[in-house]
Amino acid sequence: MIPEDEARYSRQMKLACIGEEGQQKILDSNALVIGMGGLGSPSALYLAAAGIGKLTICDFDVVETSNLQRQVIHRQDSVGELKVNSARKTLQSLNPDCQVEAIDHELDDEELRQQISAANIVLDCCDNFQTRFAVNRACVDAKTPLVSAAAIRLEGQIISYIPDSDGPCYQCLYSDDYENAQTCEVEGVLGPVVGVMGTLQALNALLILTGNTEQLVGKLMLFDGLNMQWQQVQLPRNPVCPVCSAN
Ligand SMILES: [Zn+2]
Repeated sequence: MIPEDEARYSRQMKLACIGEEGQQKILDSNALVIGMGGLGSPSALYLAAAGIGKLTICDFDVVETSNLQRQVIHRQDSVGELKVNSARKTLQSLNPDCQVEAIDHELDDEELRQQISAANIVLDCCDNFQTRFAVNRACVDAKTPLVSAAAIRLEGQIISYIPDSDGPCYQCLYSDDYENAQTCEVEGVLGPVVGVMGTLQALNALLILTGNTEQLVGKLMLFDGLNMQWQQVQLPRNPVCPVCSAN
């Protein structure tokens, strides 16, 4: 590790769960972040700040004025610009050593599988169930760990899929035809709530990349930001899950 990195990452390298070995793993890792909105913003910022070697960011939307209240990676002067280009600028100004690959189109099945196989960790920061299920399935097939989160109104949830554990995958929580029409556009969402969940995604990703996975297996965390309450649910694997039990 070069002396600049030792200084830059000294505070987190002091932690027993990270250390120099863990920091090197972070520096050598590629994180795929799907969605550069309210969850993807803090996720990508904290991973870049922590020294992740490569961020592959994926989004095909442009920045709109109504995004700026919660999507803190984007700036006023980025309105109208592709989110991945806007995000890349901010990430590179934060940490020029982080390599950022920007994907500005919707990934088809084959591309999604390729990107997930090439990643050390996947962060699902998207806003629809169809994508969530496709990402989960590809992660289970490739045995790539996945951190899934969602937020709406003042509520959030997060769960991680840990390959080679007896824990559940994302699909274990929902039936295959599950559809939820609720959107932040209709229901509303408060910026710091989605910020909390995206920040937790980055935390889970750093723990997983450094081998601190045991405490994450099957742990669904639910956040109620209005009443300032956390609920923790320990979920088993669904024995008839169409995705992870078929393997
Ligand atoms: Zn499953």
